[in-house]
Amino acid sequence: MVLDSLGKSLRGVLQKIARGSTVDEALLNEVVRDIQRALLQADVNVQLALSLTERVRRRAKEEKPPAGASLRDFLIRIIYEEIRGILGKDQPFDLRPRKVLMAGLFGQGKTTTTGKLARFFQKKGVRVGVVAADVHRPAAIDQLEQLSKKVGCEFYANRNEQRAEVIVREALAAFPPHLAVIVDTAGRSGIDTDLIEELKRVRAVLQPDETLLVLDAAMGQAAGRSAEAFQKAVGLTGVILTKLDGSAKGGGALSAVAATGAPIVFIGTGEHLDELERFEPTRFVSRLLGMGDLRTLLERFENLSNKEAAEEAAKHLMSGRFTLRDMRAQLDSLGEMGPFSKLMTMIPGAGAKVDEAKMDETQARLKRFRTILDSLTGEELDTPQIIKSDRVHRIARGSGQRPQEVRGLLKHYETTRKAAHGIVSNRRLRRQLEKQFGSGEAPEE
Ligand code: GDP
Ligand code: MG
Repeated sequence: MVLDSLGKSLRGVLQKIARGSTVDEALLNEVVRDIQRALLQADVNVQLALSLTERVRRRAKEEKPPAGASLRDFLIRIIYEEIRGILGKDQPFDLRPRKVLMAGLFGQGKTTTTGKLARFFQKKGVRVGVVAADVHRPAAIDQLEQLSKKVGCEFYANRNEQRAEVIVREALAAFPPHLAVIVDTAGRSGIDTDLIEELKRVRAVLQPDETLLVLDAAMGQAAGRSAEAFQKAVGLTGVILTKLDGSAKGGGALSAVAATGAPIVFIGTGEHLDELERFEPTRFVSRLLGMGDLRTLLERFENLSNKEAAEEAAKHLMSGRFTLRDMRAQLDSLGEMGPFSKLMTMIPGAGAKVDEAKMDETQARLKRFRTILDSLTGEELDTPQIIKSDRVHRIARGSGQRPQEVRGLLKHYETTRKAAHGIVSNRRLRRQLEKQFGSGEAPEE
């Protein structure tokens, strides 16, 4: 998952607090040191990491927990607030049909993200037209055309035109009215006058509502300087950080960009067209710290094409009545949702209850699961408890898999079901958390 090792370390800190017998100076020192180490490993700026942990220390000593809250919970909450604090504010993103200009250097993920953003709009019922205004790389035009076909949106290109602004003018005239228009532009290896002038000419024609900078999270802290330079040169309404799935430096990139004041509006979490998420520090931090995020999960379900079965499965998952039939519906939708492990990290409680190695299930294994599920009878799908040893062997033969794999499936099911079960009690926890943290305001006493 995104910021995997940072998340693991921070969850470790919270567990340490939860397990410790008392919150005392020794524990506080240890917690401060652990958080510092975790942040620095994620490439967070040293000053930022130090001042954050200093604030944690000071607040833990000076502030009084609200009535009824334990010192332990209070410390966890301070950590949550301080980490959320370095990621900026939750920023709404307007979904009305609008004009979006994508900017950025070579290879940062502009074209891919243009496709992802197009899909994001279309899934919300807003029709999109994408414009291939990368006049420097013919391959980029083909790349965007391919993406537009997958997304099913309008596409405009003019392979004989070398002026990006002319292409944009033509596209605006050619597209049907009321489209959201997203313009993919050419990158450079660095910010130079050539790039800036081109972006300004395009902007004059497009009159964009949003100018979004696409930045690769692997830049770490350097992403902040890049955001600042673009901000000064062309003005930005937001930043999209890509490749957070593969970068150990994501924490540095996120915090450095947030520190410039440019809001991070989306993050890219994979190469797949669906792997774009709205970035909201509040929910991002709750997920990072293992508090789960029901809303992100539900949004994913909402975006599915075989919506009904998945919705049903989601409902069952949350009510604790989760059968193998529901699991099959989930597996069917995986193609669009990304790996199951990712999904699991979004289920409140699941992060803590499923062991981490399990969450790294490969797609191949899930495919085998899917094959096995096809060999089950209706009764077995609805009441998995009846599958005992003799049935395991029959199913294995029927699906051409080893009995071991069938047992693996049942175990996986059991884990998922238990995790889902945890949601019921976690709901209470969640309400409590929302009451404590949700508004971002000072707590009620
Ligand atoms: P551009 O030059 O800025 O247009 O960059 P591209 O859109 O062509 O992307 C460059 C590479 O980054 C491609 O191989 C993409 O598949 C990859 N990429 C883009 N976004 C992500 C992301 O969020 N995660 C991962 N893992 N790869 C990404
Ligand atoms: Mg490109």
